[in-house]
Amino acid sequence: MFEDAGFEAFFVGGCVRNALLKQPVSDFDISTSATPEQILSLAESVGIKAVPTGIDHGTITLVEDGIPFEVTTYRKDVETDGRHAVVAFAETMQEDAARRDFTMNALYANSKGDVFDPIGGLPDLEQGIVRFIGNPEDRIREDYLRILRFFRFSAWYGNADQGIDAEALAACAEHQDGIEALSAERIGNEMRKLLAAPDPAPVLGSMGASGILARVLPGAAPVTLAILVHLATEAVPDPMLRLAALGGQDAKERLRLSNSEAKRVDLYQAEALGSKAPAELAYRYGLETARSIMVLRFAFFQNPLPAIEDDLALGASASFPIKAQELLGQYEGHALGERLRTLEAAWIESGFTLSKDALLAL
Ligand code: ATP
Ligand code: MG
Repeated sequence: MFEDAGFEAFFVGGCVRNALLKQPVSDFDISTSATPEQILSLAESVGIKAVPTGIDHGTITLVEDGIPFEVTTYRKDVETDGRHAVVAFAETMQEDAARRDFTMNALYANSKGDVFDPIGGLPDLEQGIVRFIGNPEDRIREDYLRILRFFRFSAWYGNADQGIDAEALAACAEHQDGIEALSAERIGNEMRKLLAAPDPAPVLGSMGASGILARVLPGAAPVTLAILVHLATEAVPDPMLRLAALGGQDAKERLRLSNSEAKRVDLYQAEALGSKAPAELAYRYGLETARSIMVLRFAFFQNPLPAIEDDLALGASASFPIKAQELLGQYEGHALGERLRTLEAAWIESGFTLSKDALLAL
């Protein structure tokens, strides 16, 4: 659509980076020479749904086949306050690339799939080097969120053997007090994405050593997490399980966790440090959650994980044979609840073997 109308338009950012790495793409960003008004009228002329999601900074979301594409007019940074870059429209891809954060995030692709690399990000992508575009200190002072983005992208795309880039790490450490100016919501979003990386532990180790982790989450320590990552077997990592391993104070407020996320972290921590057997955990919380709790428990105690799968399967498939109605008449209200819990405990204690009649006879 854009090219037919004589505009430049390129996929940019994570979708190009991840496509080149043959990794899944989470969202599509498009950068174009068309102005927001031109984007809107083009979309209208071909019947594509357009939502002005961020029209102030030139972003319009086009929805095609239910997939959102964030389209943004070429921009350049003109002024910054450390929290939000103030931007102006730009004329060229080169200018648009220069305001981006890391070289591997400034790759462009046209509709045919030809890749354009105005900054020189391809070699960095190939070698797993997360490199700031321009001077790291300047770029961090423009927008302190880039400190956390540096760690996030290092965890996901950095070369683990080479370790984190020392110069960039030093710049992040130097300017870490800027993190205080960021909203809990933005910090939380970055930390969630960092914690979802295949192995975030080495990067969190660097964040810890440089003092940055303590600023984000006082009291957090990556030791347990490093063990957890190696014990865990889930196909898609659970950031809240990892956060439970990381620990730290006031995670709910500092990372703006939802109620359900915070509850999950609390449950993981409380049960991992508790003494319920794997089968009971699986009966109460389901197989996956019970497995996560057990993995966290053994990571805390730095012990190898014993064979628990049979117990987990047993507990997950067990179903308590007594319904509350069956005790009505004999018990009511508070006493009924008490009685049910007593019988349930006896049943769990029996390895889920006591029959309904045996329980009622107790
Ligand atoms: P993801 O796979 O998580 O979506 P992404 O690279 O697409 O990764 P986004 O946050 O979606 O990251 O941002 C899209 C692009 O916008 C980035 O690749 C980068 O070029 C640019 N960008 C985003 N945030 C910043 C920032 N704070 N400073 C500079 N450039 C940024
Ligand atoms: Mg993206």
